[in-house]
Amino acid sequence: MPEGDTVWRTALHLHQALSGEVLTETDFRVPALATLDLSGATVDETVARGKHLLTRIGDRTLHTHLKMEGSWHLYKPGTAWRRPAHEARVVLRTEGWTAVGFALGVVEVVARDAEDTVVGHLGPDLLGPDWDEEEALRRLLADPERPVAEAILDQRNLAGIGNLYKAESLFLARLSPWRRVGDVPDLAGVVENARRLLTINRRHPAQVTTGINRRGQEHWVYERNGKPCRRCRTMVQVAKQGAAPFDRLTYWCPTCQPA
Ligand SMILES: [Zn+2]
Repeated sequence: MPEGDTVWRTALHLHQALSGEVLTETDFRVPALATLDLSGATVDETVARGKHLLTRIGDRTLHTHLKMEGSWHLYKPGTAWRRPAHEARVVLRTEGWTAVGFALGVVEVVARDAEDTVVGHLGPDLLGPDWDEEEALRRLLADPERPVAEAILDQRNLAGIGNLYKAESLFLARLSPWRRVGDVPDLAGVVENARRLLTINRRHPAQVTTGINRRGQEHWVYERNGKPCRRCRTMVQVAKQGAAPFDRLTYWCPTCQPA
């Protein structure tokens, strides 16, 4: 599941492979960009903003988002792709690398000085160099009635938490996902936990929150519905939370995280 840590690492890999390099060929396989050709341009950098990727190329920015199924792969020339070619949405070639964005949820190109139109709505980035906890807390508390699980998932409040880190951060804080955000005794602690988990996991593909990197033991409650809580043996529950289209599954232990 692409969350802030996965996106941060993707940005790092794209940055290391492409930055400073001239594009020898580009292929945008989305209707709006079908005729765009950026070959000859130099890639300046790729950065993550929450769960968004910004690849800066001259005076333009390629904005991509992995959503549920997307991924960027890097291939040496002549290497077989590991996902079907029909899933490719963007192909960027340099002399040394082919970067392929598969099944991306968003692909658009904007003027570099207009990046705010695509990421300006985001709250402070949990993995950003400009992380601002005070501002994140201010945004979270602006709607104190909102259930905490929905509030921390809203990228306008703070950027980078997806469904996995939502569930795990609330378990670690022993908080019901339905607790009103204004009633959370240590909201800063919840945010700091999420940031710590994202930071720990950003350098490797595993998303481990328990400290145990073994299959089936990586998480406290996420996707563990019907299984016993690792702390108290109560059955972990799952329910839909939030109003469509933003309703997401929430996993929790009713004993450790009482209503
Ligand atoms: Zn429990």
